[in-house]
Amino acid sequence: MAVDLRLPYDPQNIFAKILRGEIPVKPIYEDDFALAFPDIAPQAPVHVLIIPKGHYVSAQDFGLHASVAEIAGFARAISEVAAALDVSEKGYRLISNAGGDAGQEVPHYHLHLLAGEKLSAKLV
Ligand code: 5GP
Repeated sequence: MAVDLRLPYDPQNIFAKILRGEIPVKPIYEDDFALAFPDIAPQAPVHVLIIPKGHYVSAQDFGLHASVAEIAGFARAISEVAAALDVSEKGYRLISNAGGDAGQEVPHYHLHLLAGEKLSAKLV
């Protein structure tokens, strides 16, 4: 079911459980502000999810309510993930779905990093 952006953060969402270590993932990158791990249903040869450690439902929630340190830390983490994946030379795409029309499924802000092939018009 698509995320209703009017609802408060649900601490039982899947990414909250991943952050608490209740669901195992293979970390691609982790620091104080972010965790990156492979998407369970990849839509490209490289499909990694990058999530902030703070509890934010969407990009909008994050942008409006996260601290400057969290926002800066998350921005830095995105580039660290791209470096860890070695995708900078050939290129990659970042996507964030917000709310129902975008088809957001998990109500914890996340970026999809897609790479590893010519992406053309592919969307998540
Ligand atoms: P959204 O549609 O919210 O932008 O994307 C949510 C993404 O989370 C989907 O691409 C989906 O495959 C991924 N996902 C859902 N549950 C899990 C999980 O338990 N583990 C991992 N690694 N990815 C998940």
